Amino acid sequence: MEATTFVLFGATGDLAKRKIYPALYNLYVDQKLPQSFSVIGLGRRELSDETFQANVEQSLRMFSRREAKDPVVLKNFVRAFRYSVLDVGRKEDYLKLLKLIEQQEAELRMEPNRLFYLSVGPEFFETIAANIQESGLGSANGWKRLVIEKPFGHDLQSARDLNRNLSKAFTEEEIFRIDHYLGKPMVQKLEVLQQSHPVLQALWGNHSMANVQITANEIVGVEERAGYYDHVGALRDMFQNHMLQLLMMLTIQLPNNSTSENVRFNKKQVMDSLEALNKEDVRSHVVRGQYGAGTIQGKSVVGYTSEPNIAANSQNDTFIAAKLQIANDAWRDVPFYIRTGKRMKDKSTRIVIEFKEPFVQAQSNDEDLTPNLIVFEINPNEGISLQFNTRDPQQQREFRPIHIDFHERGDNVPEAYENLIGDALHGDSTFFAHWDEVELSWQWVQPILDAYEENLVPLHRYEAGTYGPAESDELLAKDGFHWWFDD
Ligand code: NAD
Repeated sequence: MEATTFVLFGATGDLAKRKIYPALYNLYVDQKLPQSFSVIGLGRRELSDETFQANVEQSLRMFSRREAKDPVVLKNFVRAFRYSVLDVGRKEDYLKLLKLIEQQEAELRMEPNRLFYLSVGPEFFETIAANIQESGLGSANGWKRLVIEKPFGHDLQSARDLNRNLSKAFTEEEIFRIDHYLGKPMVQKLEVLQQSHPVLQALWGNHSMANVQITANEIVGVEERAGYYDHVGALRDMFQNHMLQLLMMLTIQLPNNSTSENVRFNKKQVMDSLEALNKEDVRSHVVRGQYGAGTIQGKSVVGYTSEPNIAANSQNDTFIAAKLQIANDAWRDVPFYIRTGKRMKDKSTRIVIEFKEPFVQAQSNDEDLTPNLIVFEINPNEGISLQFNTRDPQQQREFRPIHIDFHERGDNVPEAYENLIGDALHGDSTFFAHWDEVELSWQWVQPILDAYEENLVPLHRYEAGTYGPAESDELLAKDGFHWWFDD
């Protein structure tokens, strides 16, 4: 792998501590970092290199999936870390940074390949990109890459503005937009599974599927993120990005050799075929919710508007369920039901595919027979299970469902950030969000944002510790379906 300087904005932040340093450490232990590799951490606070290195070590002890105990390994790892003070708006700090990087590159005889990771608030993205360009940090002889975290904009217009400004300093190929759901191992397997397995391949699409359900339920409430979350809500925080990415990954149709280009091209095709909602459709296709007080796992919790720093009259959404349709040959007439919410009964991210039942309907008298299902468990556990109907050995005339389960052991599987940072270092953009996808996602979501803004969609209160408002169940019941595994 090519020599790289990893320039980390926000090096004293929470994301760096919990995710980025552990990811780099695990890549290092697996020998997946470049031979010549250095990290320059940036933050507003004054820190010596030694204190910075000690902080990094501390974060590994707390958050790494591998035990960070061996003092020699740790010492060798943190030796690559330097720290420099930088305030995003202060131009002289970028010139100081350039000097430090050039000095390191010369000392270590490294190619000037620079990866800029912005682990800071999105309000800083444009200023940092412009300053990287202006200072000359991005004009060395090697490659440059920009890694940014969602949110990419607040709505369609702001996303376009952000992208236009970033494009002045970085090309699309140089921008790596992290959506950490795309780093989850099961999500990365989705396209391979359907392509490589003849059984799944044969079943994929509207000829055999009755409906698809994508769920991302969280137990937690707003936690300490009130200031951020109350302006964002479930639609922007989860649906526009993670949930639509899951939909794309499940429904892309790829040629046999899936390259980064054709994964992205085909994801765009899905978004192009997604039936647009107008503001009037939103009422019948979208359920908007906000949690009230309730009990989760035996513990009483307060409602959203009683959370610290949330206004008592907040209309923010903490839950969304929506019905989507893809108007192409493979998926026409298969409803996709997508939901995500906070303060739900359990924590799980999963995709359930429910199959049509021609055989059973023709042969069984048992109206309660459950349909055949495939379930992809994404989080917290990873697995695939099949539920299908077979003859009951005791009652030959009847059917009964049997289950086949595969579950990956959760320990020591690389985390999303590890996969994604490794890919960014390699320059592989397969599992990053391309601008086309981001723009089309905002475009699809915008009428819902408008309808919320104009109060065209009721805000349903739901009790914490449930599966959301009753209207979410009705969304499926209208079509003769129900959410699976709500019990
Ligand atoms: P944080 O508040 O813990 O850290 C922010 C970092 O930005 C700090 O290092 C701080 O020094 C730096 N910073 C702030 N103002 C600055 C300035 N003027 N000049 C230079 N540096 C400045 O935030 P975080 O939780 O680490 O999140 C960072 C970004 O990643 C946010 O945009 C967040 O939305 C996103 N994100 C975070 C998580 C997470 O799990 N924490 C997950 C996904 C996305």
